[in-house]
Amino acid sequence: MSPAKRTPTKRTPTKQTTKTTKQPAAGGADAWAELNDEIVACERCPRLIAHCQQVAAEKRRAYEDHDYWGRPVPNLFAPIGSVDQSSHSGASKASFAPTGTIETSRSVLIVGLAPGAHGANRTGRMFTGDRSGDWLFRALQRGGLASQATSVDRNDGLTLIDLAITAVCHCAPPDNKPLPEEVQNCREYLVRTFELCQPNVILALGKIAWDAMTNFYRHQPEAFLRTSTVAFGQAPSTPKAVFGHGRVVRLGDRWMVGSYHPSQQNTFTKRLTEAMLDAVIAQVRELAEPNSVSKSQNAH
Ligand code: SF4
Repeated sequence: MSPAKRTPTKRTPTKQTTKTTKQPAAGGADAWAELNDEIVACERCPRLIAHCQQVAAEKRRAYEDHDYWGRPVPNLFAPIGSVDQSSHSGASKASFAPTGTIETSRSVLIVGLAPGAHGANRTGRMFTGDRSGDWLFRALQRGGLASQATSVDRNDGLTLIDLAITAVCHCAPPDNKPLPEEVQNCREYLVRTFELCQPNVILALGKIAWDAMTNFYRHQPEAFLRTSTVAFGQAPSTPKAVFGHGRVVRLGDRWMVGSYHPSQQNTFTKRLTEAMLDAVIAQVRELAEPNSVSKSQNAH
């Protein structure tokens, strides 16, 4: 998982693949920046845009001197080559969130739910500035997927390692509950993020993220194969496994691991403990390594 190991790895083909193999290239920094700019400028969900702006205007007392982001939150990613995301790409009009120095490729894609009202909606970076992020980044740092255990603001020097972080909904929703049509509106960004990322492993934080990915897989199973050809009638079957913490499922030739979301509701009630999250991250790391096919004892 070190930066020196960024060369795409050849994966064991699934049973459904029949012919030539072609490894899709993960997207470069410009493609990621372009997508992020589109996300930040998006206004497809008027209810959510209004909510983000309202939260940003009213603020929480503890952050009353903060300049809230108050709009869609872009992906947090690790582009090919070391790129300083604290400065904008300059490729388009919107200025997406600066995120610190990020290193090379992404073999893991974390899919969260949505920005927190006073976390990512305040700081402009995924899982940054709230307790959910505190939990997640502590675990990622312990698991070797992040350079530091804290994620405070966009200029805190955080470095992701072989990892990108996205969400099924890029705007903070009221009560942390996006409407189905809002998740659907944002689906295009999830699909494009997945296609840019080309992850070996998806870590779905919560049932909504899990369901969004399995739904994507049902409709576009070919997108989950690195092979370019699937024989007619041999499309991968729909995974039967429902969401569960620690659940592992094969989607095409990728893995998906489920975890309870590190929301305060889950962590305060100890539904999710740090040991449970550490175990999931360790599983993700193991599956992200080459020749991981035989390693999962838990796959469905
Ligand atoms: S939730 Fe997604 S689709 Fe809706 S406005 Fe925000 S970025 Fe756009």
